[in-house]
Formats: sequence, structure tokens, C-alpha cells
Amino acid sequence: MIKVDVLPINQWQENTYILSDESKECVVIDPGCLSAEENKHVSDFIAANELKPVRLLQTHCHLDHVFGTRYIHETYNLKLEAHQGDEFFLEQMQSYAMQFGVQMEENPPAIDIYLNEGDTIKFGNSELKVIHVPGHSPGGVVFYSEADKIAIVGDALFRQSIGRTDLPGGDHEALITNLKEKILCLDDDVVVYPGHGPSSTVGFERMNNPFLT
Ligand SMILES: [Zn+2]
Repeated sequence: MIKVDVLPINQWQENTYILSDESKECVVIDPGCLSAEENKHVSDFIAANELKPVRLLQTHCHLDHVFGTRYIHETYNLKLEAHQGDEFFLEQMQSYAMQFGVQMEENPPAIDIYLNEGDTIKFGNSELKVIHVPGHSPGGVVFYSEADKIAIVGDALFRQSIGRTDLPGGDHEALITNLKEKILCLDDDVVVYPGHGPSSTVGFERMNNPFLT
């Protein structure tokens, strides 16, 4: 049974997710920790819950979702797993961050393992399926557990909203089509965990999301 913990972090209140199960293994998704304090906040949470991080995953590679990627990569010796479509963001992250007045000591690490549609990600006794949902970014993916009825959707979908599509590689029509064809077809009671703000369900969004009805 997957437990979902969310740590809202950094000036964008980005949701860093820690998924764990009874094995105490966990995956870290979208570590947004930027300052030393924020890094410690995430590490303290992991330690306090006696978790063992075994995978480092990105729903996508926008700035606010990758601040802490190098920290998690180095602290827990984890390979970075993300979709190749977002690789170009990582290579120019420091200069991009500067435009927002954010100082990053180094770029995030390069992607070690490319995630693709239909991949299965295992940790502990659990597994997540990779669903490619480009539109907010070219390499946007959703991590979905059919058994536990959860979907970590990044910034593709929010409670009653969808992700912005004005950043490089964004595509508004593609985002709506992908969300309708790949996410709204999931069961009503699948809980949706976005990259910012509160969780929702597939059923609620299908009925109430003004971009998708
Ligand atoms: Zn984003």
C-alpha cells in the first residue's frame, strides 16, 4: 500500500512527493528543495520516518521541480530518472534560474535513466506506471499506481485547472488531448496529486475542471 507524503517547498510552493510503502523503501519525486534549510527539511522527513530512498523521479524538469535534484542524487546516491523530452531544461538551468533571481550553485545532474510511456517503476512492494503526458513540457510524465489508485501528475493537471503552456516546448492543445485520453479515462476515485496546490480526483476533475469538460 503506497503512502503519499507531500512537502510543499520553495518560493513556488512546489509539492515534493515522497512515496513509500510498508517495506520502508521510498521514491522521491520532484525535489524542489533549494536552500540548505529546505534540503534538511526533506532529509529530516526521510530520517524521521526511517525511509530508505531508492529512486529519484521527475514528473518534468522545470526549474521549481529540480532545485533539489542534485542534492537528492548525491545524498542518497540515486540515479536521476526522467523523460528525455525535458533534458534541454537541465542543461541551461543555472542561467534560467538567474532570470528568476535564483542562484543555483550547479546545474542539476544529467538524466541517468530515460523514462518512457508504459515503463514500470518498482520500489518496495509497489509499482508505478509511467504515462507520458506532454503539453506543459515535452517530457512531462505521470506516475500512476493502478493498485493504489493514485496519480502523481506534476504540473500537467491541477485542481480545476491545467498547467501553463507558454514555456519552451509547451503545447496547449496537446496537453488537453493527452489529459483527456490518458488521465480522465482512469477510474473516478483515482487521487490526483499535482505539482502545486491540493489533491483532487479524476472523477472530480472530469466533472468540474473548466479546461477539460
Ligand atoms: Zn512545470
